[in-house]
Amino acid sequence: MSEHAPQRVGLIGWPVEHSVSPAMHNAAFQALGLDWWYTLLPTPPGEIASTLAQLRGQRYRGANVTVPHKEAVMAFLDEVESSARTIGAVNTVVVREGRLLGYNTDAPGFLAALQAAGFEPKGSRALVLGAGGAARAVVYALVQAGSTIVLYNRTPQRALELVHHAQGMGGSVTSIASLDSLEPELADFNLLVNATSVGMWPQGNVSPWPETLSLPSHWTVFDLVYNPAETRLLAQARAAGAPAIGGLEMLVQQGALAFELWTGQSPPLEVMRAAARESLARSQQAPVEPALRQDADVATP
Ligand code: NAP
Repeated sequence: MSEHAPQRVGLIGWPVEHSVSPAMHNAAFQALGLDWWYTLLPTPPGEIASTLAQLRGQRYRGANVTVPHKEAVMAFLDEVESSARTIGAVNTVVVREGRLLGYNTDAPGFLAALQAAGFEPKGSRALVLGAGGAARAVVYALVQAGSTIVLYNRTPQRALELVHHAQGMGGSVTSIASLDSLEPELADFNLLVNATSVGMWPQGNVSPWPETLSLPSHWTVFDLVYNPAETRLLAQARAAGAPAIGGLEMLVQQGALAFELWTGQSPPLEVMRAAARESLARSQQAPVEPALRQDADVATP
């Protein structure tokens, strides 16, 4: 490898082709004059070990990790930072002196986006939809911030497992088997978080919130889905007069925290935000390929 080759970071996931992270990070490297390059490391399920060996052996400074590897990657790292261990998922790897260190920037990224939108989670009552990797990070962030949480997931067993896990962190977390059962108590909540992949491109016109249930105007609605930028759920919230937050700001915030871990430099947030928005707008104009339709519920930061 040439002495002048750039330092590299990569995105480990499957599929990764439509990610906005390369555009966001490469714009940030360029803005700070860093000779770094963010590249895609497509890694089919079961092949994480060989991609990590590549990270150790080449000029890599780190990586992001996305679906389906956020949990599996932990077993192959030299060290996992304590909040990532508690969450049970790693989305950022730092290579330091040949050692692989794991972090989770989804949880603080979510909190930063929530607070940037003016919502103070301390003492809030949150209804969280989902029980996958993103929901684990959201629940951790909200427990740390002092929220009371009710969880709903399509597969109730996964919700129960997450409740058990969150109670182990000292959180006030319960789950419900159906959203309809919550109707008499909806007014008691003030935050709704969608941490499912429902509504994600290319199946953008569906919502995780039933059209038959009211959505109180005093709620703040946070949809982690960022593609499309305007989801059906956000439209429902706006129609109800409720403040609505899309997933793009969380994407930028988690990326900014990863950037800082890799480079030790303060991330150029505005540059990252603009590049992420532009890349997303470009991807939404791209035609939907048949192969991608099959992967419709696969998330790619
Ligand atoms: P995941 O681990 O695969 O979990 C997917 C979740 O969505 C599960 O709770 C799953 O329920 C639920 N789900 C999927 N299809 C559904 C359907 N048709 N009806 C009802 N529930 C359904 O994925 P993840 O990593 O948690 O990601 C979830 C979403 O968060 C994705 O859209 C992703 O893009 C987004 N995200 C955004 C950011 C950001 O920075 N904005 C960061 C991370 C993730 P079951 O358990 O029943 O399968």
